[in-house]
Amino acid sequence: MSEFDLINRYFKALPQQRDDVVLGIGDDCAILQVTEGKQLVVSTDTLVAGVHFPENTLAYDIGYKSLAVNLSDLAAMGAEPAWVTLCLTLPEENNDWLAQFVKGFSELLIKYNMQLVGGDTTRGPLSISVHVSGFVDQGKAFRRDAANPGDLIYVTGSIGDAGLGLKKRLHYITADSLTLCVNKLNRPQPRNDVALALVDSCVCAIDISDGLLADLGHICKQSECGADIFMDKIPLSNELTSFYGDRVDVNQVLTSGDDYELCFTVNEQYKSRIDEISRKLDIPISCIGKITSGDRVNCFDTNNNIIEINKTGFQHF
Ligand code: ADP
Ligand code: MG
Repeated sequence: MSEFDLINRYFKALPQQRDDVVLGIGDDCAILQVTEGKQLVVSTDTLVAGVHFPENTLAYDIGYKSLAVNLSDLAAMGAEPAWVTLCLTLPEENNDWLAQFVKGFSELLIKYNMQLVGGDTTRGPLSISVHVSGFVDQGKAFRRDAANPGDLIYVTGSIGDAGLGLKKRLHYITADSLTLCVNKLNRPQPRNDVALALVDSCVCAIDISDGLLADLGHICKQSECGADIFMDKIPLSNELTSFYGDRVDVNQVLTSGDDYELCFTVNEQYKSRIDEISRKLDIPISCIGKITSGDRVNCFDTNNNIIEINKTGFQHF
């Protein structure tokens, strides 16, 4: 199959579901209509085999996750998803692999009304680079530098599952009952619905890709403040707590990445609104602590002692 046949067969065939795409795949560039009064929010993320996912990960899951992690960045900015480009480097032409990859890729693409408008296809070690764009109303993006002392800190879903799933996946632990954790690792649910519901209450957010402590640390550093959070308020899944029993690995929960939950801060006056959003969307949203005027993130145990943590999130370099 020629490169053009491949592009037509797998990428051009995806749903063309947006009116603001004037010209999609097939020319030198795409032409996109930007709505007046909106700001364009853009982000790119790359997944490399063996680094971001184990080599033997299913093609479907790779396709799914490569869009999910980018959607999660848009959620962290409070942006409405719109356009995608995809740069794919493949070791060989493999139709079964590509068909599954595109299936996984299109799951969230369709759900969030996005359109693939271009990309690049090359040969080499497997790597997937996705670029997304979305919109926010003027000045309404959630920013890491916008937290204020006294703000409440919230997280969606549950924390630490993907990290536990990865341990299982890499055979660092043996357990037969970690299906949900492994699933969270392979098919994270980006929190775009929560993000869009928060646009009138929230100004500061980040998505948890490197671990709760590290990512909340980014908010604190850029907002020039600190945070007090409480271990017993951090939402844990039943699967994780039953795996650990009464000895939860606090270090793992606080520092393992890949959960793609949203961590955000809001002024105290919005507390009831957040509870309402959680009920309405049927997604757990938990208050885990408060922004302080300090300069570090402290996590307290049930005796109000600071928990010492000896690693702070994943870093490539
Ligand atoms: P050029 O050589 O001008 O960059 P290409 O041959 O790379 O063009 O691509 C032809 C068209 O197919 C372009 O519109 C490009 O955006 C699109 N395209 C190529 N690869 C992909 C891909 N993996 N996903 C989506 N669109 C792609
Ligand atoms: Mg090209």
